Amino acid sequence: MSRFSGRKGEKEEQDSPSPKGMWTPVRWMKAWPGKGLISRTFANWMFRHFTRLSQWNFGVDSGMYPLGSCTMKYNPKTNERQASLRGFAAAHPLLPVGLSQGVLKMMFDLERYLAEITGLSAVTLQPAAGAHGELTGMMIVRAFHKDAGSPRSKILIPDTAHGTNPASAVLCGFTPVPVKSDERGVLSPAYAASVMDEDTAGIMVTNPNTLGLFEEHIREIADIVHDRGGLVYVDGANMNAVMGIVSMGDMGADVMHLNLHKTFSTPHGGGGPGSGPVCVRKDLEPFLPVPRVVKEDEKYSLSWGFPKSIGKLQAFYGNVGVLVKAYSYILSMGKELKKASQLAVLNANYLRKKLTGVFDLPYDRPCMHECVFSDRIQEQHKVTTLDMAKRLMDYGFHPPTIYFPLVVHGAMMIEPTESESKETLDLFVDACKAIAWEAKNDPALLSESPTKPKARRMNETEAARKPCLAG
Ligand SMILES: *Cc1c(COP(=O)(O)O)cnc(C)c1O
Repeated sequence: MSRFSGRKGEKEEQDSPSPKGMWTPVRWMKAWPGKGLISRTFANWMFRHFTRLSQWNFGVDSGMYPLGSCTMKYNPKTNERQASLRGFAAAHPLLPVGLSQGVLKMMFDLERYLAEITGLSAVTLQPAAGAHGELTGMMIVRAFHKDAGSPRSKILIPDTAHGTNPASAVLCGFTPVPVKSDERGVLSPAYAASVMDEDTAGIMVTNPNTLGLFEEHIREIADIVHDRGGLVYVDGANMNAVMGIVSMGDMGADVMHLNLHKTFSTPHGGGGPGSGPVCVRKDLEPFLPVPRVVKEDEKYSLSWGFPKSIGKLQAFYGNVGVLVKAYSYILSMGKELKKASQLAVLNANYLRKKLTGVFDLPYDRPCMHECVFSDRIQEQHKVTTLDMAKRLMDYGFHPPTIYFPLVVHGAMMIEPTESESKETLDLFVDACKAIAWEAKNDPALLSESPTKPKARRMNETEAARKPCLAG
């Protein structure tokens, strides 16, 4: 904790790097009242203060950020520029459609691109995040069964699904039925068949799943679910692994969401806006949220004329800035989207191979965009996954996702993404090897880490419940 994060009093003095402490703008003003804000030296202190604050943070632009399932990759800065073009950034959502043709065209075209990428036929851009997309998708599933005259109460959810999946299903009034993955980390058709019945609305599959593995029996499982009148929901938040390679529609998906703020050029997390578009097969289109962007005689407008629609899901029409970035990203990448996915998968497999033996690999088979290790080797030295994750910060890396998925003991879920070079991956491997060595030979070092970042080890609960945000 530093004085800049707002702690006052004794602690502040103790933390000072010199007996007198550093000069902060506030101290400067106290010491020389009346010199005023126009002073150049004041401006100088001010800039140093904010530059220093920015350096105490860590982001994709400062180092490797292998946070599994979050796709923290390089997001081309040009897409930010397109999003801030006046025509987009200054477009008021209440402008008449005649003055919003550009924005509406962008949304209409983006829907088409996302439909093509997923292999589905219609899209809504309204949901503001992945979990919001899941909720939208589940509402569509519920509306579909209700419309068919057979409301159903259950939904199948694999143990390798993302944690938000059961929550979204429950919010929509479904009872989640857990489906166990097999010893290879994927779903078995036989097990799916044994739990799928006429009161089950469908299945919610995360694919690639949270073990970073592709659900290889998805087509067969989709047939089983469809045969009994159910729908297949695919959580496509991790589309970064399969863009341009897999058509989810051909694999039997009926509804799926994407995270634009992972795969399509907006960073995930950090509190900024996101976007979780939902794509559906043709006959589910009438249930999509309203208003929808429609095109008639080369003119775009917003239509509310969909009587079976589940309604409106958020203020206005989606997080348009995020949509512009995705649109710009897709257009500028073109066929390279496929290459991005191929490189993301290659990088993850490179790490998987290099780190096998350094950490325990519970599912030893080719992975997709991320690989998941356990703490079994280090556990014998009483070193936890948390200790190792914290120690990585001392080596200049953001920790991976930890303790998730739950099916892996002390999980470390590492997603390097396509935008890391081999040199960076090798540095990461070296850091992991050094940490594994320390775990064996100097475990106390790990329990005291991190030592280098501004904030040392925090109380995880207090940091989330009672964040210290201002002085
Ligand atoms: C990130 C993620 C989500 C949730 O997305 P949010 O935008 O954080 O709500 C859902 N499913 C999977 C597989 C994810 O990786």
